[in-house]
Amino acid sequence: MIRPAQAVEDCDRWLPLARAGVRALSPYVPGKPIEELERQYGVRHIIKLASNENPLGPGKRALKAARAALDDIARYPDGNGFALKQRLAGHHRLTPAHITLGNGSNDILELVTRAFVGPEHEVIFSDHAFAVYPIVTQAVGARPVTTPARHWGHDLDAMRAAITPRTRLVFIANPNNPTGTWLRRSELEPFLENLPPTVLAVLDEAYFEYVREPDYPDGASWIGRFPGLLVTRTFSKAHGLAGLRVGYGLSSPAIADILNRVRQPFNVNSVALAAAVAALDDAEHLERSLRMNSDGMRQLLHGFEKLGLSSIPSAGNFVCVDLGRPAAPAYEALLREGVIVRPVANYGMPHHLRVTVGLPEENERFLKALEKVLGTKD
Ligand SMILES: *Cc1c(COP(=O)(O)O)cnc(C)c1O
Repeated sequence: MIRPAQAVEDCDRWLPLARAGVRALSPYVPGKPIEELERQYGVRHIIKLASNENPLGPGKRALKAARAALDDIARYPDGNGFALKQRLAGHHRLTPAHITLGNGSNDILELVTRAFVGPEHEVIFSDHAFAVYPIVTQAVGARPVTTPARHWGHDLDAMRAAITPRTRLVFIANPNNPTGTWLRRSELEPFLENLPPTVLAVLDEAYFEYVREPDYPDGASWIGRFPGLLVTRTFSKAHGLAGLRVGYGLSSPAIADILNRVRQPFNVNSVALAAAVAALDDAEHLERSLRMNSDGMRQLLHGFEKLGLSSIPSAGNFVCVDLGRPAAPAYEALLREGVIVRPVANYGMPHHLRVTVGLPEENERFLKALEKVLGTKD
């Protein structure tokens, strides 16, 4: 057993030895796992709307492929992901050389930072942007530069103005998590056109499939046009494979080659590779998932309206609702009702809660619980 006092001593001893950027980090806070809430409060029949997962789960085809792949797990996976890259290349009308596979798209965000960014560099991202950007930036000792948001979204003019000769990387989430805000083609195109030749732009499109706005750009179609562009996509959200960890980057073959140098040789496991190929073939499951999301989003917005609450317009599978007061007590009270959502105070949004669109009955239960919780005195 490690005594608590010893743990503190160990921390006092080792923390000063960590690099400065790492010392300044706090660990990523994930959505509370269902099992943990059961343990803590003894609550049953819990619903989790906290991690932007697909409420329908994986498709049947992906599940079948994953099960079949289990027979072979004594063997290392295909380190080059031949079959998945072939399939993705066809899907995006690119070649396998444009593709880098990752252990989730988070892996790609880390690879590009490790490969290109050092302590002498600056990395730009927006206020209220995805929490992984500061983590990967500070882990390599680079200086994070955050720009103020505009209507909760990225202010590309501010981001452009923040570029200095030390800037090596700009992270843009489109749509952004946790705000759900998105950028139009007409905004992003000139931004990418005017990037200095020594700056890479990462366009994080984790929620690409959900977006229905006609002006929303497909970053994949810009590969070949903007040399410093890296687009990231994932199977974790609309495809329902978050637990398997598989995502990818699209870029020039030159950048993909560099990312390949720093990745772990077998960074994507064999079960994930098989499931991802099958998921791409399951247009029906994807369609069903997207339909369920737009219906569920409407249901949530209608519920917020009835409660007199406003929310940030979201293009993704989640929405930030404004409680008009500190949201932490409501978050805690919702937990006691068996509903897990996501507090976003750590994103500089102390009055909001982020809610993932769930099944119709889950959305209903959340709205009822929210009504109850807000009606109760804190
Ligand atoms: C969920 C999410 C990801 C994807 O993470 P994976 O590692 O692919 O599971 C990437 N970017 C943003 C903004 C996200 O919200």
